[in-house]
Amino acid sequence: MKKIILHKGREKSLFRKHPWIFSGAINSIDDDIDLGETVEVFSADKKFLAVGAYSPHSQIRVRVWDFNQSEIDKNFFEERIGSALNFRKSVVDSKIYNAYRLINSESDGLPGVIVDKYNDVLVCQFISAGAEKWKQTIVEILVKQLEPTAIYERSDADVRQKEGLKPIKGMLYGKIDSGEVIIHEDNLSFIVNIFTGHKTGFYLDQRENRKIISEYSKEKNVLNCFSYTGGFGIAASVNEAKHVLNIDSSEEALNISARNFQLNKINDDKFTNLKADVFTELRKLKSENKKFDLIVLDPPKFVEGKNSLNKASRGYKDINMLAMQLLNDDGLLFTFSCSGLMTPELFNKIIADAATDAGVNLSIIDRLWQSGDHRVKTSFPESLYLKGLLVKKG
Ligand code: SAH
Repeated sequence: MKKIILHKGREKSLFRKHPWIFSGAINSIDDDIDLGETVEVFSADKKFLAVGAYSPHSQIRVRVWDFNQSEIDKNFFEERIGSALNFRKSVVDSKIYNAYRLINSESDGLPGVIVDKYNDVLVCQFISAGAEKWKQTIVEILVKQLEPTAIYERSDADVRQKEGLKPIKGMLYGKIDSGEVIIHEDNLSFIVNIFTGHKTGFYLDQRENRKIISEYSKEKNVLNCFSYTGGFGIAASVNEAKHVLNIDSSEEALNISARNFQLNKINDDKFTNLKADVFTELRKLKSENKKFDLIVLDPPKFVEGKNSLNKASRGYKDINMLAMQLLNDDGLLFTFSCSGLMTPELFNKIIADAATDAGVNLSIIDRLWQSGDHRVKTSFPESLYLKGLLVKKG
């Protein structure tokens, strides 16, 4: 096996079982290592540290498969996938949910591999050189262990470019007539387009938060900003919200949203789907003196890199300030950030600053994050990206 030797002192993160080796940590490297090839990693004093996948184009030059000197072969992936599926059994009740994340990359010991289950169809992303190399093996194991009707690949994420891989999507196994799959979350149903939807099709990471929002929604006048295909709005309506106003800029998402409201048998007079820019529309609603009992803010990732953190923070503050001004006394705001670079502390501060500028008193009722199937290993805190707060006016 080809070898990589680290600079003195750069083995420390590996002792904490953090699975990334950056280019700057590497002292010497064998010649001619292929994209995704398995390499052994040693400390400066030649102690074995890990085996991982080599990625010559990425700043993250090696992603660790194992901290033991094990063979990386089909058996290895069978064992890792088996234990990822077992973990889901303890965090998701598959009797009431038929869509959830089965494999969450580094936190399941499979860097670059994401697998989501949508009823009996699996949607995968292979977003690292190592994951790409083992794609076929992983697909075979998924077929054997889960017997899906189809497996579709959505590796059309930009991050692949950093790994020297082209974005790609298409069928990996089986057949489906259309990209649309219907999923069930307890008493909610959703149409998901796995061919064209965001990420792998749906915001499965918000499943627990949909449940929480639904519990607060009875008889409330709800404003659902960045509504996508209606997730939070439907959760609110099914639990008898008085009315839900969904706002999104994507016509395609709003079309599916309308069909999702129908699918859940919600009367037309109980909801409105509005195609608009949230920043503009919130100002308009404010100028019209509109008020809401419950507001959801779930914007897209504003932070693309460290350089955009300041600009993104202003964006978060702006929409939160406007939303706070649209709340009735006693109103509730569910506010999220899915940017990994936004820490929970910074997000809390932005919300506090927004409240000051909006001239409102707010109390924190709950802290929110991604559902447990979007596994977060304590040794890999980077996988916790979704954070939110439930705050109440007053
Ligand atoms: N809350 C959703 C997910 C939101 S994803 C859910 O739980 O399913 C972010 C959404 O914001 C996308 O649907 C995108 O179309 C929309 N969007 C992005 N920028 C926007 C803007 N400026 N105004 C309105 N919608 C926007």
